[in-house]
Amino acid sequence: MRTLRTLIPVLAAALMAAGCGPADPPDAPDAPDRPGEADAVIEWGLVMHGGAGTITRDAMTPELEADYRATMTEAMEAGHSILADGGGALDAVIATIRILEDSPLFNAGRGAVFTAEGTHSLDASIMSGATGNAGAVAGVTTIRNPIELARLVMDSSVHVLLAGDGAEAFAALHGVETVDQEYFYTERRWRQLEEARAEESAEAERSTVGVVALDRSGVLAAGTSTGGTTNKKWGRIGDSPIIGAGTYADEGCAVSSTGTGEYFIRNVVAYDICARTRYTDYTLAQAAHAMIMEQLEAQAPDLGGIIAMDGEGRVVTSFNTPGMYRGWIGPDGRAETAIYR
Ligand code: ASP
Repeated sequence: MRTLRTLIPVLAAALMAAGCGPADPPDAPDAPDRPGEADAVIEWGLVMHGGAGTITRDAMTPELEADYRATMTEAMEAGHSILADGGGALDAVIATIRILEDSPLFNAGRGAVFTAEGTHSLDASIMSGATGNAGAVAGVTTIRNPIELARLVMDSSVHVLLAGDGAEAFAALHGVETVDQEYFYTERRWRQLEEARAEESAEAERSTVGVVALDRSGVLAAGTSTGGTTNKKWGRIGDSPIIGAGTYADEGCAVSSTGTGEYFIRNVVAYDICARTRYTDYTLAQAAHAMIMEQLEAQAPDLGGIIAMDGEGRVVTSFNTPGMYRGWIGPDGRAETAIYR
């Protein structure tokens, strides 16, 4: 999977050496400073986020922080064990996200935020970098693990994105596990809805989840799952189920986003980052920095962030918020977790 992308620079260098290339490549020799560094390089493994927002030490208790880190570790270990056994990137993404969806801590599955009507409406998507196949669901209300339904849409339908009642009917046809809306009730999210109603605002702390995995055969995959934004109205759908905005994967780059979805849709964030590495000489870290810290930051502060990996196992995280729940795990099986900037 990594061959074509790896070969392009080599071929380009050979052509240049033979005098066939442009004499003066547009970005060299005085390329501007391009900040952005990989957080880690791993032969195979995965990187996850649990949302970005106003996540500060003062707003966190030691117990809550320990809970977040423990759940992130458990989730990453589940994905890691699939990869360690030679399993595929898609399966690792699903296994990791399932645990995050089953936790009340994250705004996905069980811990989903409330809509303005006091209900829950969930979105998820997944994409394979190997095949370019993708599946997504939006506005589902009874699905326990929306990421699994997204995978089914990809594998067992000719469509990419199913929404609302249609998605629920498709789930019923395939015997997908459903739950009552009460399953998604958590006191913490209810309080957030009350605060948002009082302020007539959207939420400040989000905790959508996303995972990017690189398996041992070099295949990348990405997935994202969310309850959306607190107090959302009128069937609002964010970026998380939109391929190219919330989730994207190709043979050399995979991204999952979190943040104010409207901005991530308008800027086609996940695809743009990958495209920049494909069509220019930006590294993944530089492409992520250019999108999150420059392009989005110029539009508004505190919008969110991304996690990403390239085909060489470079792990990149970038966010313009005070914090982003995040972590990665490589072949040694030691999960790293981080929360604050
Ligand atoms: N991106 C999600 C949405 O706009 C929210 C989040 O990431 O927390 O629906």
